[in-house]
Amino acid sequence: MQEWKTIRIIFPLLKTHSWAIPIIIILGVLSSLAEGVGISLFIPLLQNFNRENSETDCGNILLCFINNLFISFSPNYRLFLIVLCIFGCILLKVSLAYSSSIIFSWYNSHIGHELRSKIFRQLLRINYSFLETQESGKLINLLATETWQTSKALTVFMNLIISICTISIFVILLLLISWQLTLLAGIVMTLISLAIQLMTRQVGSLGRQAVQVNEVLTNRMWEGLSGMKVIRAFGRENYEQKRFEQASEKVRSTFLKLDILSGAIAPVSEALSASLLLSILVIFLSQGSAGVPIFLTFIFVLYRLQPKVKELDGCRVGLVSLATSVQEVMYFLDSSDKPYIYSGDNPYNGLKQGIFLKAVNFHYHTQENFAIQDISICIPKGKTTALVGPSGAGKSTIIGLICRFYDVTDGDIYVDDRPLKSLNLTDWRNRIAIVSQDIYMFSTTVRDNIAYGRLDATDEEIITAAKLANADEFISQLPLGYQTKVGDRGIRLSGGQRQRIALARAIIRNPEILILDEATNALDSIAESLIQEAIATLSQDRTVIVIAHRFSTIEQADRIVVLEEGRVVEQGNLQFLLQLNGLFAKLYHLQYRTAKA
Ligand code: ATP
Repeated sequence: MQEWKTIRIIFPLLKTHSWAIPIIIILGVLSSLAEGVGISLFIPLLQNFNRENSETDCGNILLCFINNLFISFSPNYRLFLIVLCIFGCILLKVSLAYSSSIIFSWYNSHIGHELRSKIFRQLLRINYSFLETQESGKLINLLATETWQTSKALTVFMNLIISICTISIFVILLLLISWQLTLLAGIVMTLISLAIQLMTRQVGSLGRQAVQVNEVLTNRMWEGLSGMKVIRAFGRENYEQKRFEQASEKVRSTFLKLDILSGAIAPVSEALSASLLLSILVIFLSQGSAGVPIFLTFIFVLYRLQPKVKELDGCRVGLVSLATSVQEVMYFLDSSDKPYIYSGDNPYNGLKQGIFLKAVNFHYHTQENFAIQDISICIPKGKTTALVGPSGAGKSTIIGLICRFYDVTDGDIYVDDRPLKSLNLTDWRNRIAIVSQDIYMFSTTVRDNIAYGRLDATDEEIITAAKLANADEFISQLPLGYQTKVGDRGIRLSGGQRQRIALARAIIRNPEILILDEATNALDSIAESLIQEAIATLSQDRTVIVIAHRFSTIEQADRIVVLEEGRVVEQGNLQFLLQLNGLFAKLYHLQYRTAKA
């Protein structure tokens, strides 16, 4: 059965807050028990009104047992006592059901929160190359929607157990009242259940489709928002509108079909159940064997059983329709088949000689070809090493490997004489600051964006860092100074201003190793000279690795590594490389001529 598949998948999740599960189930079952007892008390109540039959109808175990409970009381007092007991049972039932639902909600909210946190942790831990293969829309959908669906599946599962226990209690009660009528009801209800199962299968496949179309729509939303500028610049508003509407329409029609089909289950089951009740009534009237109070109680219990059976069917349908969501979440959380960057055990206390890449080969998860091949270079401590080369030569890949965003495929990277992999990853990354072309501004204040480099930085330290990065002047002119919001819903900053904030973020970190990915976009000469000045201050007595595009950087570098198609083709200082008259000299003269023109 499809629902068992979901149950098997969510089973590991039941380990969290496992103490709550039996409490929720026991409270749910006790509440049904209280209801069952309350209903049983209708037999003596009805008999009390029909006093001639009350003595003769004791041919039934349940009836005898209940009659014996009240036999010693006088008829008038007995009536009052039975009504009181029924009322007590109703009160007990609702209080137990309410307590169960409160713990249920608590459990549900915690599981949802923990799932979201686990997925986010996984996103932060998993190898970056794996994430690059996933669509952003899919990941957002996973985090925002599928986690809710999975916590819902857990609660549906518990409801299923409660329903099964409740139905068992009611069936026992029915058997005690009349096993013949129960047998008949059982056969018809099994047929109803089979009909429901057929519909459930359809719901399962629609549930899978619903997850897929939702992912496509989230992707459209994500791309529409993040690519808004490109869309407008290329006049693709109508094209994007059409694509969005198509995706939205698919979500609409799939969810409508899902709602129509899952909504049909309740009326179908109700109509079939009503015919069951009617057929039992006809059989009873044609035989005229049992007493009226017993028959009425049987019908009442059967009537109360209907919502429980419907709930059980609803739970089964729910589990089937949520199977794909649960599968997606559990697949993403499963660490056994995903690549990770593991931290080494050795503490890292600082660079003594330098970083050495030895015969390093690397290819990305999605690519068969090597992005870099047979790279052996030295990045000496306290010096500036420039990586130069045409686009796609492998410069950013080398930076990614040094920062351990990825691990090398072959060869090794050494920090002094120790393999990089053996070092504690947090220690290592804490000593590095990157100023990349692609500067990400969090949607918070300028102050917090700078403090991202070191979370415990004081306001004075932040202002000093901003001054060193030549950013203090423009920040002071912003509407709220350092408290001005930037990023998503805040003020827009120019490319040069963003770079200076990124520099201040790096300065506050006081990194031992500074990595600069120089911007290729032309900044105006004032902005460029301000940034150059700040970089010069920041680079003093530090190990700097720079993806160099500017002459000033290339000329000042102690060592230049020239890359082409993933291989080192030349390396040395500027004079040496110019004399060599190879690729570097060609690139250098080409840029120089372009700049002069
Ligand atoms: P640029 O100056 O244009 O940034 P680069 O010298 O930094 O280029 P890399 O970005 O390191 O070059 O790319 C080296 C090779 O690896 C290229 O062939 C590129 O297509 C490939 N590559 C880079 N990033 C990825 C990625 N995330 N997944 C797959 N392949 C990649």
